[in-house]
Amino acid sequence: MLHKPLTSWQYLQKMSERKQKRLQNEKLRQMMRLFPLASYYHSLFDVHKIPFKHIKQTKDLGIAQIPFTTKQDIVTTMEHPEKAAAFVLDPKKNLRLLPKLTTLKLFFSKKLKEELTEEFKPIHVHFTTGRSAMSIPVLYTKYDLENLREAGKRMMSLLKIPNDVRVINVFPFAPHLAFWQTVYATNENNIFGLHTGGGRSMGSEKILQTMERMKAEAIIGMPSYVYHLLSIAQEKHIDLHSVRYVLLGGEAVPPGYRQKIKELLCLNGAPADVKIYTTYGFTEGKIAWTQCHEESGYHLYPDMEYIEIIDAEGNPVADGESGEIVYTSLDFRGTAFLRYKTGDIGSLQTGPCPYCGAKTPRINPAITRSSDILSIQHTKIKGMFVDMNAVAAVLSSNQFIVDWQIVLEKKDKYDLDEVVLSVALHENADKNHAKEEILREFVSYFHVTPKIVLVSKEELRKRLEMETALKEKRIVDNRNIEKKRK
Ligand SMILES: [Zn+2]
Repeated sequence: MLHKPLTSWQYLQKMSERKQKRLQNEKLRQMMRLFPLASYYHSLFDVHKIPFKHIKQTKDLGIAQIPFTTKQDIVTTMEHPEKAAAFVLDPKKNLRLLPKLTTLKLFFSKKLKEELTEEFKPIHVHFTTGRSAMSIPVLYTKYDLENLREAGKRMMSLLKIPNDVRVINVFPFAPHLAFWQTVYATNENNIFGLHTGGGRSMGSEKILQTMERMKAEAIIGMPSYVYHLLSIAQEKHIDLHSVRYVLLGGEAVPPGYRQKIKELLCLNGAPADVKIYTTYGFTEGKIAWTQCHEESGYHLYPDMEYIEIIDAEGNPVADGESGEIVYTSLDFRGTAFLRYKTGDIGSLQTGPCPYCGAKTPRINPAITRSSDILSIQHTKIKGMFVDMNAVAAVLSSNQFIVDWQIVLEKKDKYDLDEVVLSVALHENADKNHAKEEILREFVSYFHVTPKIVLVSKEELRKRLEMETALKEKRIVDNRNIEKKRK
């Protein structure tokens, strides 16, 4: 049998670090035989003369200096539309690489042929959420969908969400990991799930009415949309006393957001001990990881992936130090990655989890995500680099602000940048005082003075296109557009 059953999660969590390492090494050796089935890795190993058969342990990846895979290596461009396909494991390319398999055996065994099809034939796809020309397809075979299912099972067990709850999934309906991980998690755990497709598919008001009627206990969605949904709930006096759990994913959760969401929920009748958990995942990783407690790290699955944390030079950081998160598939078919640089900055937690006792590693919840959350990550404003993730975090955590949007524009013919910050304030906020405070905070963090415009919640919502666009228009850069017009 080519399909090795996954280690049981109950067992894996109790495994000693040494045993986990041994398991990862064994899985890596298997994957090193499979990676050359992807044409990208086949040529990479050839060009760099990498003795991939000599990679026997996870630490050998760094020692042998296996080159990192970057987003640029995968991103499909107009000139190279097939780039992403080069990361798909295709046994037709090199049958002899599969252990104990010969063309003769394959010719005579129908069962073997079926097993190979199940293991290697892509049947499902997710795309990254970048700009459409840049989005990367990540393919799943039936084998991989088993992992997606298992990850869903593990998530619910870590979150201790019982199977008698009713879940409302408000992720946008799309070929994205977040939406489908949720579908698989509820199905696998025998949990009732209403997969609404979010505001764009079902409309926020309808979602809220349904949520009230079905007495949903759990809401799963993107932090920005969940917040938007709950603000409408407050205006429409929707009864949310049934909500016990909120699970956020798909984008970074700014600090302070958890508290804002909790406050909104409680205003609508939810109990004070409502739990707000966050998840972490990226399309290339093919499954998502979750917390087991509001303060805990994201529990990794050491039988599915190997995570390295590296410094700017590509060397491993010291234990617990922060650096770039690098991902290696340990048990996937379809699209698979070896030492993929995520662009996200984080650190690893090892030893038993202080909350659930699992001995498996975790990623510290404080992650700086640079992947595809915002269309602009770092941008030069008035000649200075500004981290837009940090801007989002600061504004979203501000006590006076209900919602905000930034538009970057060219001020005049001298080509000066202007930051227009539109904010909707809390009803009871003193306008002048709030404006002063927001300005003070913004300048002290980013050394850039924005032009602050007060707008109504409704107007801001319209501008953010929450109900209509797949991705909200949180930060809009109009500087180049205007240049072109001139
Ligand atoms: Zn835990």
